[in-house]
Amino acid sequence: MDLDRHIRRIPDFPKPGILFYDISTLLNDGGVWRATVRQMAERVRAYRPDGLAAIESRGFLLAAPIAYELGLGFAMIRKAGKLPGPVIRHAYDLEYGSDVLEVGEGMVAGGRVVLIDDLIATGGTAAASVTLLRKVGVEVVGAAFLIELEGLGGMARLGVPADALLRYPA
Ligand code: AMP
Repeated sequence: MDLDRHIRRIPDFPKPGILFYDISTLLNDGGVWRATVRQMAERVRAYRPDGLAAIESRGFLLAAPIAYELGLGFAMIRKAGKLPGPVIRHAYDLEYGSDVLEVGEGMVAGGRVVLIDDLIATGGTAAASVTLLRKVGVEVVGAAFLIELEGLGGMARLGVPADALLRYPA
């Protein structure tokens, strides 16, 4: 199945000069979405994880059905102030300023964890998530993305094995 045909390109979103790869159109087609989730689930299974973690918000769309398919739990990684209850946080630098990621205390069971997101560009968000998960004390055994923007060094920055179903020039 040609997943690429179902990825919509939106130029100059959210700001001028950015070509946004929109997965809404993929999600909108039941058969194509099921094929996407199944393909990603098989790649994730190969890491033999004990649990999954995903980055808000589009990462959740993929991680929930993959976790269901594999019979695993998944933990939500969110921006500061969104999660209820005690959290573990990690602050990281952006090009301009900084940001904070949080995960609920006790939400990531020990053992082998795979990180999931829809797209990796510079890898800043995913690398910060890997650091956060290590802070919690789990082993990040891999990362799985639907889309990789090539040439930005994102995958290399993670320091864990990682792959993507689709690759586009940045
Ligand atoms: P980065 O931290 O640079 O790897 O950015 C990754 C995050 O930003 C992911 O959660 C993506 O959903 C989002 N993102 C970055 N660039 C794009 C793009 N060109 N199209 C769609 N989403 C993007």
